Amino acid sequence: MATTTTSAAVAGLTAQQAASRLRIDGPNAVAAPPRRHLVTRVAHQLTDPLVALLVAAAVVTTVLGDLPDTAVILLVVVVNTVIGVSQEVRADAAIAALDQMTAPTARVVRDARHLVIPAAEVVQDDLVHLEPGDVVPADLRLHETHRFQVDEAALTGESVPVARDAGADVYAGTVVVTGRAAGTVVRTGSASALGRIATLVATTRPGPTPLQRRLAGLGRALGLTAVALSTVVFAIGVAGGRPVIEMAITAVSLVVAAVPESLPAVVTLALALGARRMAGARAIPRRLHAVETLGSVTLVASDKTGTLTEGRMAVQRAITVQGGTYRVNGSGYSPAGDLLDEAEQPSAAPAALRELARAVLLCNDATIASPDAEHPQWMPVGDPMEAALVAFAGRCGLDPDAERTAWPRVAELPFDQQTRRMTTVHRRPDGGYLVVCKGAPESVLTAPLVDSPPSGMLAEAHRMAASGLRVLAVATARYDAAPDPWAVRDLRPAGLVAVGDPLRAQAPHIAAAFDDAGIHLVLITGDHPATAAAIGEQLGIWHDGDGLVQGDEGAVTANGVGDQRVFARIQPEQKLDIVAALQERGHVVAMTGDGVNDAPALRRADIGVAMGGGTEVARQAADLVLVDDNLATVGTAVAEGRRIYDNIRRFLRYALAGGAAEILVMLAGPFLGLPVPLLPAQILWVNLLTHGVPGVALGAEPAEPGTMHRPPRSPQESVLGAGLLRGVLLTGALLAAVVLGAAVTADALGRPWQSVAFVVLGLGQLGIALAVRATPRPGRGRNHALTVAVAVSALLQLAAVLVPPLRDLLGTEYLSAAELATCAAVATLPGLAVRLAARKGRGTPNA
Ligand code: ATP
Repeated sequence: MATTTTSAAVAGLTAQQAASRLRIDGPNAVAAPPRRHLVTRVAHQLTDPLVALLVAAAVVTTVLGDLPDTAVILLVVVVNTVIGVSQEVRADAAIAALDQMTAPTARVVRDARHLVIPAAEVVQDDLVHLEPGDVVPADLRLHETHRFQVDEAALTGESVPVARDAGADVYAGTVVVTGRAAGTVVRTGSASALGRIATLVATTRPGPTPLQRRLAGLGRALGLTAVALSTVVFAIGVAGGRPVIEMAITAVSLVVAAVPESLPAVVTLALALGARRMAGARAIPRRLHAVETLGSVTLVASDKTGTLTEGRMAVQRAITVQGGTYRVNGSGYSPAGDLLDEAEQPSAAPAALRELARAVLLCNDATIASPDAEHPQWMPVGDPMEAALVAFAGRCGLDPDAERTAWPRVAELPFDQQTRRMTTVHRRPDGGYLVVCKGAPESVLTAPLVDSPPSGMLAEAHRMAASGLRVLAVATARYDAAPDPWAVRDLRPAGLVAVGDPLRAQAPHIAAAFDDAGIHLVLITGDHPATAAAIGEQLGIWHDGDGLVQGDEGAVTANGVGDQRVFARIQPEQKLDIVAALQERGHVVAMTGDGVNDAPALRRADIGVAMGGGTEVARQAADLVLVDDNLATVGTAVAEGRRIYDNIRRFLRYALAGGAAEILVMLAGPFLGLPVPLLPAQILWVNLLTHGVPGVALGAEPAEPGTMHRPPRSPQESVLGAGLLRGVLLTGALLAAVVLGAAVTADALGRPWQSVAFVVLGLGQLGIALAVRATPRPGRGRNHALTVAVAVSALLQLAAVLVPPLRDLLGTEYLSAAELATCAAVATLPGLAVRLAARKGRGTPNA
């Protein structure tokens, strides 16, 4: 420990000095990945194998002098590229906005005022304050330290905390583990220690998410299938005497039409926009993969204090060693309040109770702040539980400041989550020393610290814990000479203090809502098993006779974890084992955390959830940051994740069924007397109208009403699983049957059957887009973008046979209004069938 203060730099820089430094030195950030240039983006789109195939086809049609086909092919290439690039740009913008929201912050002093600013705005010579859980924002020279330790793993790979005293340097990217410090910035940005290694790190873009990788695989498989089937179409055509070149162009068009080339764009955009919607609901995803993983979360492991409880602590009961039991009343953290004795009569604090209250006031690092203009109530400063003990001392008639001045602290062992106790040594006003130890009853009331606690004291502690209270035991001793706090023995018990923290009113509803969605809520706490069980019971996740896991009973294993919902006496380090054990049992785990030691578990969890009010290091380790510290928001994010996945499946069902129908029509047509059912330009036109804008619009469908009343999907399940592939094939077959039926009928009537097939195919696909849309929720609007996209596409499809230049371009023939109406009526059949089947089934075509 060392505490040194130089007089320099206590007021920090002025705002002007900081601003001019920022202008000169630039932001305190390592080089961001270079932004992709428009040309690169376009080139990326054009190098897609399908597009390359189309360009090759355009070259061939040009050489052959077939200009209408060249025009249609180029139109498809241009429209696809525009849609692809614009979606990529939108997705990147959404992701950049999220990065901004969770950008690291730093505590600085400017113009003698303490401020929290984005770490990127820290400049050289800034005065920075550091607290546990902070990520050091720049290289600093320390000039004041107090029990200060940092974890330098980010630089050295060695994660044993090291002490740093005044005069030493600490480096950007390292993490404050304990203590406090202040220092002056000596290097920022890429000149800092992190900058030197991070220029390597920062230039790598995040890779594709697991879903994107799986979909890319699916895209390849579909591409190969389409190539194989198109080759068959080609062979049939050539065998039927059609020109080879014409059939080759037809086959290429068919491949292009059958493969949903907008799939990657649709997925990226759906994920990025979903992430933005989540952020709007106060859950900020820090990585895109979180958005998709959230949809398959099966278990939420939550902290207790502040997450499920209100984090408003108050001493409710106190028991002195002489056996006096008192109920403590008062509002919030106010030191005013009163005491009731066992007979529920108002009572003044007897000497033994005052002694107990003084002990917990002295062995305590918190204070309470009196009401002011900003906060109309007394506020805790420091650990809320310790602040509650300060308020309790006030309610027992003590003046906290006067007592602390009269009994100055000379040595201490800070609270340690391993030993679950804290010890302080004070000089007594009458000479000599007082040692106070407070902590978990089984840690304090144990030999050799306390030799023989009064019989019944542990039982009493257990009884209070079983009503959901956090119980602290207190022991004291007097010495003539200052003792070494490590070596104190034979303390005398002073009593028990029970602290309550009310469950958030909505917590049981959150637990029930998770249950409804097939998600286990699990409680993880450092508290006593009896307290944990009582809270579990109030939450409705634990019932009398259920087991629980106790962290102090040995290592946590997958077997030991079983299906238990309550974990007590858990240390932050054990959370990592818990996540691993739960994952081993097949769970997709979302885990909350906010402390320094929670970071590894947050990283290991499928979804690490940090509280906005927690430490910087937890926020940076997490996948999801809850701005409002409210667990219900995780539910909202899960619902959003499920919605996005549903929409991707919706798009697949729609796009693949359309592609399947096109291939089936081309394959079966020749056997029904329709030699080449559709011309290449017609196939590409249908592809253009259906895949592009309506496909993207499907990604914005709202959630189904039942989204959170069904179990999570299995992460192992294929994207086409749970009946989707069957649905695609059936829908495709139905659409093909309708198209062929219409064409054969038209042929029999001597009408332009090819144009009939073309119109029915296009309108039929648009009908399916409407059929797979989400069931509207009462009171919620529809996704109007889809309606508009479908309407415009339908009009363009009709224009293709009505407008002469388009007829020339696409090789279609005129159809009368009555004929078009009949085509439209017939084209609704596949969509109606999909909707009816969904009604009879599970309510939605995709879920
Ligand atoms: P939570 O479920 O509230 O998030 P936690 O896991 O953070 O709990 P800890 O703060 O580690 O739990 O507390 C574990 C135990 O240590 C408590 O039950 C209490 O008995 C004891 N304890 C906690 N804070 C202090 C303190 N400041 N001084 C002494 N003992 C403490």
